[in-house]
Amino acid sequence: MKSMYDLGVPVPANKSLVARTIKNVTKEQRERVLQETEYNMFSFPADLLVLDFLSDSGTSTMTDLQWSALFHGDESYGRNKGYYVLLDAIRDTFERGDKPRKGINLILTGETNIQKLLDELYLKSFDGGFVNGGVYQLIRPNAFIVPQGRCAEHLLFSTLAEVLKKIDREKKYFIPNNGHFDTTAANIAANRIIPVNLFSSDILDEFPLDQIEIKNPFKGDMDTKKLEELINIEGRGSIPLIYLTITNNTAAGQPVSIKNIKSVQKIAKNSGIPLFFDACRFAENAFFIKKFENGYQNQSILRIIKEMFSYVDGFTISFKKDGLANMGGGLFFRDNGDFHKRFSINGDIGLRFKEKQILTFGNDSYGGLSGRDIMALTVGLYEIVKEPYLNGRIGQVRDFAKKLAQNGIPVILPAGGHAVYIDMEKFFQGTNMKIDDFGGVGFTIELLKHYGIRACELGPFAFEWDKKPPEQRKDIFNLVRFAVPRNVYNESHIAYAVAAITELYHDRQKIPKVKISRGADLRLRHFQTGLQPIYNE
Ligand SMILES: *Cc1c(COP(=O)(O)O)cnc(C)c1O
Repeated sequence: MKSMYDLGVPVPANKSLVARTIKNVTKEQRERVLQETEYNMFSFPADLLVLDFLSDSGTSTMTDLQWSALFHGDESYGRNKGYYVLLDAIRDTFERGDKPRKGINLILTGETNIQKLLDELYLKSFDGGFVNGGVYQLIRPNAFIVPQGRCAEHLLFSTLAEVLKKIDREKKYFIPNNGHFDTTAANIAANRIIPVNLFSSDILDEFPLDQIEIKNPFKGDMDTKKLEELINIEGRGSIPLIYLTITNNTAAGQPVSIKNIKSVQKIAKNSGIPLFFDACRFAENAFFIKKFENGYQNQSILRIIKEMFSYVDGFTISFKKDGLANMGGGLFFRDNGDFHKRFSINGDIGLRFKEKQILTFGNDSYGGLSGRDIMALTVGLYEIVKEPYLNGRIGQVRDFAKKLAQNGIPVILPAGGHAVYIDMEKFFQGTNMKIDDFGGVGFTIELLKHYGIRACELGPFAFEWDKKPPEQRKDIFNLVRFAVPRNVYNESHIAYAVAAITELYHDRQKIPKVKISRGADLRLRHFQTGLQPIYNE
């Protein structure tokens, strides 16, 4: 008999104890709201939707353990108790593998033995990893909490740019990535550094539907040949950092293999360039490694995460991903590592970060978060590495993609960890939709109007195909993304979405072209422009 994991359907991983009613809104009402909000997906009131696949960021359901941890939130200005357990949980997650210490239990159980609290929590010092503790976090800080991922990016790149200017004002600098996230690229560019994408070339390749439970090509990998070329052409001094995004959100949310992480690390080490993770969705990436990469089937998620992070010198992270919490982000680098050495010129780089953190986000022990956020996040770090959860989570996304593919919808296979992507180029094959008609946007407008489902175009509209020179246009995939929030939707939600998308696919001749009616030149324009669908009747 097949095992529970081989049935081809996800094993249930949780149950709901709180429900929120979805409002009964008519098509005419949605149509009116669409008109009055300029047909921009980001402007549509969420309360009027049936299903919302706009983003998985901060939109996940917290667990009962997270909700109960909120009561332990400490809103003190200096050194709230959550700060200590968060730092300990970061070490547990990224450094300790199968031997977590779980200092958080001291708080959750109301420990009153003061000696124990001092020795194990409040005065415990340690150094040499991603999180210095006790006095070392004061004299050589290397862990910085902030409100979300982009704040960590801002902290990192604006500070780096200042240091680089001191080294050489005129030099051109590059930061390669297997796929820069939009805010990452924007933060790098805003500091006059050039973001370079080194996507794996097989992202849009066909993948057999009957193989998606057994194989994964890790299409999120970095193209290491191109990385070597870039280093050879521009030289080590022009590349302050190499960045690997796990999972690769911009490349259809595809995972990155340990094999690729190791090869990139080798190249980085040989060239003396520090390697960082954009670690949003590290747990989901670890699950793909466990399920699909040779030699990892019998390793725990925590052990795989420990190995992944042993290859990097630091990371930025959005704690809004991976189902960790509704808010939070961070920047961490290895104590006395390559990054620390390379950029501690005229003063410690960590102290520079800390100064800017206080200037922009708040004291280092809360970093713009509430004490309640910090507690929910700390507990979240232990929740999201649980295997039944990850299996159900990744299984649900895979199942969503599988059902669409079975109905003939051109979905990217295999599915990534957090979202399902439809290839709009193939979707509109045989119609007269051209790339600059923004058919993907027309599709999202119709899906919202008829069925109350929100998705996001990540294609020629979002990535500004019309404003790019021809040589940059080839890097723009024409996709619509359905990001799946964690622990929010069940099979009935997915079934409804699949039925609605399939119906629209059959009627794709009627999907309108779209023109930009306001703000075509705004930055990150998909968040803000006005749109107008063109219906020919
Ligand atoms: C979401 C995300 C970010 C930015 O994080 P925010 O919390 O949204 O600011 C950076 N990188 C990747 C890969 C992301 O998915």
